[in-house]
Amino acid sequence: MSQQKVYYFDNNATTRVAPEVLDAMLPFLRDHYGNPSSIYKFGSQTARQVEEARAKAAALLNADPKEIVFTSCGTESNNAALHSALATHPGRRHILTTAVEHSAVINHCAFLQKQGCEVTFLPVDADGSLDLHLLDKSIRPDTALVSVMWANNETGVVFPIEEIAAICHSKNVLFHTDATQVPGKMKMDVKALDADLLTLSAHKLHAPKGVGLLYVKRKTKFQPYLMGGHQERGRRAGTENVAAIVAFGRAAELALANFQDENTRVRALRDRMESAILTGIPNTLRNGAQEPRLPNTSNIAFDFVEAEAILLLLDQIGVCASSGSACTTGSLEPSHVLTAMGISPARARGCIRFSLGIYNTGEEVDHLLKHLPQIIGKLREISPAGSPAHPAAGHPAVSTRPKHDQPKAA
Ligand code: PLP
Repeated sequence: MSQQKVYYFDNNATTRVAPEVLDAMLPFLRDHYGNPSSIYKFGSQTARQVEEARAKAAALLNADPKEIVFTSCGTESNNAALHSALATHPGRRHILTTAVEHSAVINHCAFLQKQGCEVTFLPVDADGSLDLHLLDKSIRPDTALVSVMWANNETGVVFPIEEIAAICHSKNVLFHTDATQVPGKMKMDVKALDADLLTLSAHKLHAPKGVGLLYVKRKTKFQPYLMGGHQERGRRAGTENVAAIVAFGRAAELALANFQDENTRVRALRDRMESAILTGIPNTLRNGAQEPRLPNTSNIAFDFVEAEAILLLLDQIGVCASSGSACTTGSLEPSHVLTAMGISPARARGCIRFSLGIYNTGEEVDHLLKHLPQIIGKLREISPAGSPAHPAAGHPAVSTRPKHDQPKAA
């Protein structure tokens, strides 16, 4: 493993496990390995720890612990929400979602289309915002679920979830939100929000990968996605991942405690980084609305360069960031989120997401800002993607909007 110092600006991809979280979970890997469903104390005491973690996760959301179903990840929670809404409303075969959801929603919806369901993917504007009037009009009598993410993982753009929930409920339709990127960064109160189903993933809030939750509002009809044993009050079969669930509970406590830091220090670091890049490096622009936006996320277009080339050179100086694009069988597809915002494929291929977190320091931002202008300058000199002398490569004459009823693979 490399010993180089890591400058980690990819907290929307995953986060470092907090030392406090590691301490909380280790005894359940090492010593307390009993099965929570066992009758003897060695097992049943782990069940108590799972319930304590449930209470802590519920507190993060202002939910009742009984409304929390632990899952294996955010992807499973999103899949389970879609599955349950359709299974509990057999007469309804329509899903309303957006063109900028995570692939855990988009690709499951694409599968549902193949099974005969109809899915509407709402478009976004150039800022990444939704037209709520269009959302309202797109709800049909046979809509089983409206699924709209709370905050976008690529741009940080925040959707008006409370208003969307109200629209759905005025039409008697279930509302699910993928809130995976939100904890610790925005206040979360499911009572005020009034969502029926909500997804979280622990590895975005300094707990390990492989554990998530689905909030299911009291009295919401629910059909499990995984069927088998009676764990999670019959709503998700499979022996509980006790250590990871305990970790999730501890991380939820810390997310509440660190809220202030994310919203003052981390926000200020992000803003300093973003404005230094936009003012110091020519032909750059921010993707997505400035506000409302997650306090840690900045997605920047660097015209006339390929994001992958930037990432490789950043890697050489220890900086981790990501491009919006997904690598599919060797060909670089531009991000479906940026494409949905009308950004040309050429520009979208030069976009980098920087996502900060509570462990980032001012010195780390200085390191990035010291090297980035040279990296971009060097790449622009040699890049076949073009240069300001060949504007066709970076500046689209026409913006391309996707057909929102045809999801791209993410
Ligand atoms: N939803 C969003 C918005 C995400 O950012 C992610 C992860 O990147 C997921 C869902 C999937 O979460 P997981 O990796 O736990 O499956």
